[in-house]
Amino acid sequence: MSTLPDLPVTTVGSWPRPPALLRAQRLKHSGHLSVEEFERQADASVLEVVRLQEEVGIDIVTDGEQRRDNFYSFVAEKLTGTKLMTLLELLDVVEDKASFERVLQTLDVPAYALRTPTCIGPLERRQPLAVEELTFLQRHTDKPIKIPLPGPYLLTRAMFVQEVTRQTYPTKEALAEDVVRILRDEIAELIAAGVAFIQLDEPVLTELVFAQGQTRTFMCAALAARNDPAEELEFAVSLINRVLEGVVGVRTGLHICRGNWSQDESTLLQGSYHPLAPYLERLHVQQLVLEYATERAGSLMSFAEKEIGLGVVNPRTPTVESPETIKALIEQALQLYPRERVFLNPDCGFGTFSNRPVNSTEIALSKLQVLVKVARSLR
Ligand SMILES: [Zn+2]
Repeated sequence: MSTLPDLPVTTVGSWPRPPALLRAQRLKHSGHLSVEEFERQADASVLEVVRLQEEVGIDIVTDGEQRRDNFYSFVAEKLTGTKLMTLLELLDVVEDKASFERVLQTLDVPAYALRTPTCIGPLERRQPLAVEELTFLQRHTDKPIKIPLPGPYLLTRAMFVQEVTRQTYPTKEALAEDVVRILRDEIAELIAAGVAFIQLDEPVLTELVFAQGQTRTFMCAALAARNDPAEELEFAVSLINRVLEGVVGVRTGLHICRGNWSQDESTLLQGSYHPLAPYLERLHVQQLVLEYATERAGSLMSFAEKEIGLGVVNPRTPTVESPETIKALIEQALQLYPRERVFLNPDCGFGTFSNRPVNSTEIALSKLQVLVKVARSLR
């Protein structure tokens, strides 16, 4: 593993996809383009994203999730027993239609446009989730590589839709057993292949505490708001820790955020990390990759023994943060964390959903340029 500079700069994962790739993705979904041809076109987009990151001076690179339609539903293509269903299709099958409909009404995204991977049979990896993303990157960069993976709690909650899942898995706990096994197998293969950093994405955790029992986002739309948040958080902690048990030879991180699908900040969740802290502290991850550029995240908190992946630019805003703003945030973090535990990144990805990027490549690039400049000035 190559050594990292002081205050390493990385991204959370996704980059906007070029129009040609979005077209190719639509053709692939409708069966008019082979997976192989799609991958060939995605190779070109990944190369461009890598080139941009190297040019800007990013220290740990990703492939910009160019091959994925979003950060978690891409698994449907890789796993048996899954089906991509739109929220409208889910509305047809869920028992509690009234509460599900309420969820749909609070979304500012059309219910027919979002597809979520739903479990309809036994889960097995048909192919690795991300090992090929890694090996392609390795052929084209010498930089350390970060691979984001959907976390076990997110996958379990998104995939368990009682009405269609229960014939295979009677409970979400039963489904989680297979999700944990699949992620453990994937992580072992990524480590064997030489990945530097594995980031588990668990954005749903914020929903448990900030949506006050109301399921607000589509990610776990199908599970109505009957669950006790504390119980769910315990469940999440146990799944994440089981996925990471005995994992060595790689940096591990957990990313959470309060929503990254809209530029309208008022539709996103709000609240400090305080209620989550007792759970985050117990996670067996080295790094917490957290939002701090947005005011919705509250003031900076210290997490003992953890690295912080400090969010210092907002991926959704059109304005590029000033060097002074970024510097002030980093200096605050350096009061709370030993220097070697501070990593720098945007709050989230720039293109969480392929057909709904939250920013343009140009602005993403400008934000990262300022971020790298500030990091270098502090080294
Ligand atoms: Zn995020």
